[in-house]
Amino acid sequence: MDGKETNRLIAETGIVPRKSRGQNFLTDDRVAQRHVGYAEVSKGDRVLEVGPGLGILTSKLIELSDDVTCIELDEVLQEYIENTYGDRLTLIKGDAMKVDFPPFDKFVSNLPYSISTPIIFKLLEHDFKKAVVMVQKEFAERMVADVGTVDYSRLTVNLFYKADCRMLEPVPASRFKPKPKVDSALVEIVPREAPFKVLDEKTFFKVTEVTFNHRRKKIGTALKNARMIPKDAVVPYMDDRVEKLTPAQIGELADAVYLLSKRDD
Ligand code: SAM
Repeated sequence: MDGKETNRLIAETGIVPRKSRGQNFLTDDRVAQRHVGYAEVSKGDRVLEVGPGLGILTSKLIELSDDVTCIELDEVLQEYIENTYGDRLTLIKGDAMKVDFPPFDKFVSNLPYSISTPIIFKLLEHDFKKAVVMVQKEFAERMVADVGTVDYSRLTVNLFYKADCRMLEPVPASRFKPKPKVDSALVEIVPREAPFKVLDEKTFFKVTEVTFNHRRKKIGTALKNARMIPKDAVVPYMDDRVEKLTPAQIGELADAVYLLSKRDD
């Protein structure tokens, strides 16, 4: 597929690309080939794709696996995918945020921009081998950021707890139609056990949320303002800023917060 072919399919299907649905279609076949290649799909893999759109990734996935499921929200695109590839895949007509994901081994998607975060977290509730996702470049940088950088964020820490994430390649905005305002990037997500243990995951995620919401504040102040610890409490790293703490150190902090909350029960 290239720009002309995408234009032809846009005209043929009559789709009017909607920004709210992240409908920026990939037009570069070589990028699509690499995207699918990174997922290392083998015949027996159950593959899940969110948002097949005009099928640039889908057409390649069905050549590699006999078990491909796509979830598409847009009725025009559902009809196109059903008519073009319907006998070789399972199409779930619905909202990927609401429908249950079927069991899958590989997840491949050019994610609609506005739902990248919830879909990635939904993904991580499942047991799978590898995901390769196209996301906005700035979002990708936050996914894989190092401690102490401006991109190091709640997203980085929450993801790190559940998976290894790796930036694969940047993809310029010019490779999509309509052309979005920002560049994209391909990212690999490989689930794994957390490299450190916490006493209570809910507290870990809440401490991460509260401290990154006030990343310029001292950790002790952020936690006290959110009433997560008493005014006179002492916890590790309380005079530091969260952006300087590794995920494991945030885990240590969260354990102290959890133990304090148990003491007060
Ligand atoms: N895979 C195609 C490609 O690479 O060109 C299309 C990718 S486009 C960025 C995002 C796709 O996700 C569109 O087909 C859009 O209709 C679909 N989509 C948007 N929101 C969705 C949702 N909530 N559930 C399922 N699909 C959705």
